Amino acid sequence: MDKKRLEYYKKKLDAKREELQRLMAVAEEEGRAADDATQDIADKAANSYTKEFLFSQSNNERYILALVEEALGRMKNGGFGLCVACQEEVQQKRLEAVPWARHCIGCQEKQERGLL
Ligand SMILES: [Zn+2]
Repeated sequence: MDKKRLEYYKKKLDAKREELQRLMAVAEEEGRAADDATQDIADKAANSYTKEFLFSQSNNERYILALVEEALGRMKNGGFGLCVACQEEVQQKRLEAVPWARHCIGCQEKQERGLL
């Protein structure tokens, strides 16, 4: 991959990382605020639901953040844009949509079907 393209994806990854970190900070804030505001039992039930939701959401964010960090790491050691399974180049279209993708489309499909 040429330098210009790498630079382009790096910007996208950096922006995504910032966005995720911000979202996670907000979720944490809201979790704390929900704790403070809890009064009676009905509130508590609603609150634990909210917290669960925020938690699963932030888990998802944490997961993507880990993938983003990993992609940035691959960028440093020259493996960015290569499928981690078959070492083929990941399709540009796919990187465009998901710059932190670890697999090419073929391997991703295999993985989703439990074949990888
Ligand atoms: Zn592959």
